Amino acid sequence: MKQRRSGPLNIRVTIKTMSRSDNNSPAILDTLKTVFGFQSFRPNQESIVKSILARRDVFAVMPTGGGKSLCYQLPAVLLPGTAVVISPLIALMKDQVDAAVANGIPAAFMNSSMDAAEISEVYRLLKYNKIRLLYIAPERFAMPHFLESLKSADISFFAIDEAHCVSEWGHDFRPDYLGLSLIPQAFSGVPVAAFTATATPKVQEDIINRIGLRNPQVVRASFNRPNLFYQVRPKSKVESQILEFLRDHRGEAGIIYRTTRDSVTETAGFLQSKGIAALPYHAGLPSEERSRNQVAFNRDEAQVIVATIAFGMGIDKSNVRFVIHADLPKNIEGYYQETGRAGRDGEPAVCLLFFGRGDIPKIRYFINAMTDERERSLAVEKLNQTVGFASHNICRRRQLLAFFGEDYPEENCGGCDICTGSAEQVDITTDAQIIMSAVSRTGQRFGIGHIIDIVSGADTKRIRELRHNEIKTYGAGKDRDKKHWRSVMDELIAQGALLQEGEPYPVLNITTKGSDILFGRENFTALKKEEPKAKAGRRTAGDAEYDEALFDRLRAARKRLAEVQQVPPYIIFSDKTLHEISRQYPATLPALRKISGVGDAKLERYGEDFLAAILTYLEENPGISAPERDEEDEPAGNTQKRKKGETIEETYELFRGGMSLNDIAKLRGLSPSTIATHIERLIQDGRDLSLDSLVDPEKREKLEGYFRSTTDWGLNQAVEYFNGTVSFEEARISRAHLLRKYQSRTR
Ligand code: ADP
Ligand code: MG
Ligand code: ZN
Repeated sequence: MKQRRSGPLNIRVTIKTMSRSDNNSPAILDTLKTVFGFQSFRPNQESIVKSILARRDVFAVMPTGGGKSLCYQLPAVLLPGTAVVISPLIALMKDQVDAAVANGIPAAFMNSSMDAAEISEVYRLLKYNKIRLLYIAPERFAMPHFLESLKSADISFFAIDEAHCVSEWGHDFRPDYLGLSLIPQAFSGVPVAAFTATATPKVQEDIINRIGLRNPQVVRASFNRPNLFYQVRPKSKVESQILEFLRDHRGEAGIIYRTTRDSVTETAGFLQSKGIAALPYHAGLPSEERSRNQVAFNRDEAQVIVATIAFGMGIDKSNVRFVIHADLPKNIEGYYQETGRAGRDGEPAVCLLFFGRGDIPKIRYFINAMTDERERSLAVEKLNQTVGFASHNICRRRQLLAFFGEDYPEENCGGCDICTGSAEQVDITTDAQIIMSAVSRTGQRFGIGHIIDIVSGADTKRIRELRHNEIKTYGAGKDRDKKHWRSVMDELIAQGALLQEGEPYPVLNITTKGSDILFGRENFTALKKEEPKAKAGRRTAGDAEYDEALFDRLRAARKRLAEVQQVPPYIIFSDKTLHEISRQYPATLPALRKISGVGDAKLERYGEDFLAAILTYLEENPGISAPERDEEDEPAGNTQKRKKGETIEETYELFRGGMSLNDIAKLRGLSPSTIATHIERLIQDGRDLSLDSLVDPEKREKLEGYFRSTTDWGLNQAVEYFNGTVSFEEARISRAHLLRKYQSRTR
């Protein structure tokens, strides 16, 4: 019970109180100076204080370090009675009470770390009006009689800190917070002030509605943190890159965020081995070790803390000089919050993100495993925003602020890698012109997929029907793959050269900026991409090109099938067929049937296996759009989907009946790899499966170790790595199992 040291009972000083109607500036300013020792207010503080004194509800969004605590501590000093502060973190509570008491404000907290005697002592202080501030954890509002006992006290107002925790749209939802809606109902005449450092307009609405604030004064401070320098660097060997950064920032305190516990442990160990005072922090560590490490960091005994996002809410350390994200963050809101922990003292600090596209498949894999449709599409949208932030050639500060609905007025922020010209850029004016010419020549009436088809010279039914193969730009970009054109397209949209308009089928329009580029009056630049891996790319086979990475996957799938069936690979499909698949990206069985070399018999026998490989590849490479499908390609209604669900259930039943993977495959006339994808899905859905009969536990251990250590989650690579001593199916199942574990422990 480490919270008890200074206890809740430090009450010494008496402070003069103003009468409830009194709302005069001299008293407020006087208190600011004498009690808090500050010369002037920070932006918005004064108006929030005045609203509370005038007994009006308040909703305030202020960035981290903006000085939210003062907004409720000051009125708590001036108003008679006790201000109740709801705060989610016990550690933070204690710090705040200590800080208040140090300023001579009688304060106490009540949380689960205290025993019954201590709690009743606090009740006594409350009853006899001995404290001005009472910090409480949200779960207490769910306890019976708690509101009743508050009612018998003299409560001046309620302050809800970290109010975004009430919203499921935010990044830090806590069900406990939902209970706070009882407050406005139970205390009709008592003002409620809610504070948060992160709220998009959507989250703001949600917070106000869920708590039930009554016509609140809404304050949105600027989210701009002028002293933070934002920077994104291509990620290669991230630990060495971090080390290099640290060599330039000797002795400075900083936080390094990683996504998983294992990588936290590894990176902390790596830095320690290089003589850096680094400590790990994640929710899997014993709580004593966690708080020990946090305290060491707070006291500057450790220079660096390597942590998952579990670290941070309770950190008020003001001299954090840098925040590094070694992996791609899941969403911008979290990123802003995490980087916000740098430079609270207003001194310059650096926010550095190492961005590698290799991080995307992992996140995609998590997202695909989500069962809730709405949750999944939300997560995809958030991922795209983060990737956009890292990859667009647009002022980072402008992008962050736009995310919170704020327009950044300056042309050049002077505080990011884009504005200071330290990010490497490439001129892609010609590519931009190719796309915009296609948009223009087709009358600005088509969407992204079709324009990319035109530019890359795809042979689709739609193109033939509209005779778009006859326009001048048709095939003008066929020497680059669709992924490339998609990224140019994204950049044009992000930088406002093209505009998407119309629902539900948005078409592309050219803006003024766009026509300046199209007619050569302005250049168009993008950020230089990380070097592609040696293997990826396109290769020419005969005349036409194909996606080499996909071809590799298909070839591996073919090899597996060939081994199972004991036939030479070319009997299954020829290279020519696989090349064509690697150009067309067929995403349904009917589309696959149209590829030359795929007849009915082969479709039935091998279709599902190859389709699985194609779909996985498309999922991992969101930039590639499958060609627009002809009508007859569409699965009829939901039947296809339902059928898939049923067939998975059948596998599940057989598996529970004790059958092995191969036996199930034989019995059902499906390939083992199809059965493995069923098992994978079942694991993702959180079904309870004992996997030991499928993958030998020792093997699974080895495989999971491998996946933990690599950013490349491809199954082929895994099988290759173990020189074929593990099967593709075993790798697939182990990977799914590992991810399932990760899902419950990314904090
Ligand atoms: P937030 O909760 O908004 O992240 P805090 O309330 O923890 O921010 O305040 C951040 C820091 O700013 C604290 O060290 C606090 O003492 C200081 N601070 C707050 N208001 C003022 C002010 N008006 N003048 C100077 N410093 C201030
Ligand atoms: Mg705070
Ligand atoms: Zn900038």
